[in-house]
Amino acid sequence: MNRFAQLDHRYVWHPFTQMRDWLRTEPIVISSGKGAWLQDVQGRNYLDANSSIWTNLHGHKHPRLNAAIQRQLRRIAHSSALGFANEPAGLLAEKLVMAAQVVPGEKKASGRKTRILPRKDRLAKVFFSDNGSTALEVALKLAYEYSRRTRGPKARPKFLSLTGAYHGDTVGAVSLGHIDLFHQSFAGLLFKADQVMSPYCYRCPFNRAKPQREDARKYRRCDWECVGLVAKKFAAQKRRANPYAAFVYEPLMQGAAGMIAQPSGWLEQVTDMARAHGALLIADEVMTGFGRTGLACHLTDESVVAMAKEPARAKLFAATRTGIQPDFLCLAKGLTGGYLPMAATLTTGRVFEAFLGRHEEFKTFFHGHTFTGNQLGSAVALASLELLQGAASVRARARLQQALQRELPSLWTLPQVGDIRQVGLVAGVELVKDWRTRAPYALRERTGIRVCEAMARRGVLTRPVGNVIVLMPPYCTTPKEVVRMVAVLREAVEEMLG
Ligand code: PMP
Repeated sequence: MNRFAQLDHRYVWHPFTQMRDWLRTEPIVISSGKGAWLQDVQGRNYLDANSSIWTNLHGHKHPRLNAAIQRQLRRIAHSSALGFANEPAGLLAEKLVMAAQVVPGEKKASGRKTRILPRKDRLAKVFFSDNGSTALEVALKLAYEYSRRTRGPKARPKFLSLTGAYHGDTVGAVSLGHIDLFHQSFAGLLFKADQVMSPYCYRCPFNRAKPQREDARKYRRCDWECVGLVAKKFAAQKRRANPYAAFVYEPLMQGAAGMIAQPSGWLEQVTDMARAHGALLIADEVMTGFGRTGLACHLTDESVVAMAKEPARAKLFAATRTGIQPDFLCLAKGLTGGYLPMAATLTTGRVFEAFLGRHEEFKTFFHGHTFTGNQLGSAVALASLELLQGAASVRARARLQQALQRELPSLWTLPQVGDIRQVGLVAGVELVKDWRTRAPYALRERTGIRVCEAMARRGVLTRPVGNVIVLMPPYCTTPKEVVRMVAVLREAVEEMLG
């Protein structure tokens, strides 16, 4: 066994991994990367089909990102945000606030237009932290405290989030989540958050349509019962005279829940409802942010050309794409282009002001992490944003979105493919025993894991969510590489399940 594989086996404990299984086989030890490719210590090459767990945007070893870090290193790597400001963190906060503004007058899914928001309700302040979980932890503490300050100190406001939700692994973020497998062993540590049905059209008990060879959102037959359930939750909480502090959601697609793509219009209806009941909106864009949800729903060659001519029009967040501005926008993963651990929680002037007061009032937000606003992270995040907002990246993203749109439907000929859910530059392929019955594989069969292992043997790396195979390539991935990823996924399904 390779020396580094041995060291790993001897000393490292991997996240979300049954280590007994892990210790049975020699791990792939990654030694370098370039563009969409990773190389291991044996010299084998792999396509990074999930952008190294949804983080890498522009490809590995990107010259502009490398240069940004090197430039910053010549000045300073880190100084504390406790007591001091620094140059790149301020610049980055400004750029994030600009990029997160919803443009008034643009059409939402309902056809209604976005309004000009009062200045206080626009995203205006950035609280930096280290990872997705802490980005959510910050939002939930701020929302809780804001609610108590506006409703009175006796208030014990609750949170509402979606079934299957995953918002991270710190205790607060776990409390907002609803994946029993991950969360049940910590139940005694958690606070109680309510859950409401997420719009999982493929497995929705209200969807009366028979399975078809198409994304279930397109052929669903229902009366938006899932939206009705959200309405009921808000109404019940109102009756209890304890309105929710906040509604927490991943916009357009829930990632770790199984790449659950929301049908057009769902988000607008439920967020309107939340607002009407005085709940704050916490948008977890840890996965969906930074261009991942694509440029538009369906791209034609003409729309690609038009977008590339005006790259500033390309939206970076699901919030700006849908015109639904949250009170908290939580960002991490892709923030630094997948280079360094850094996160940001954006919030409004209104929330910020609730924490202002005389020193002795102690209205301060008593929360902070050591590496808040780290210079290296900020510098590379700035370079990544600049790339994202350039015409070349917009063109590459459009090309990738189109390539996925073109290639994924070829998988419908596999009887083990039940649903294919693409949102922009991310897709989940749900594997089932038989598409006609939607019968799922039991988790203990490790179907998703075995298919991904077969893909790895063919040089494509990704990690499943249960029995959903995730394709989420870096934006530099070429159409030819997409063809390869999809072909390898097909071969792996045929080998393991055929
Ligand atoms: N929110 C979402 C939507 C996520 O996908 C994740 C991580 N997969 C997190 C939060 C937590 O992020 P981290 O692992 O960086 O703490």
